[in-house]
Amino acid sequence: MFTPTKLIFLAVILAVIWFGYRMIERRQDTAKHEREKTSSDATVDMIECKKCGAWVDAKEGCSICG
Ligand SMILES: [Zn+2]
Repeated sequence: MFTPTKLIFLAVILAVIWFGYRMIERRQDTAKHEREKTSSDATVDMIECKKCGAWVDAKEGCSICG
């Protein structure tokens, strides 16, 4: 049996769930953008070491061969 009090209570619960869902969605969206930003910033030039064949940071050189 639905009473006005129950309807208001139900509406409040639905609003809380909706806001919670939106907050999670926004947080995931932000995290995704952050990840994309980080990955593009973290792009480094990789070169193949002529001695051992390992892919190494072009700036730092091969850590295996020294
Ligand atoms: Zn090497």
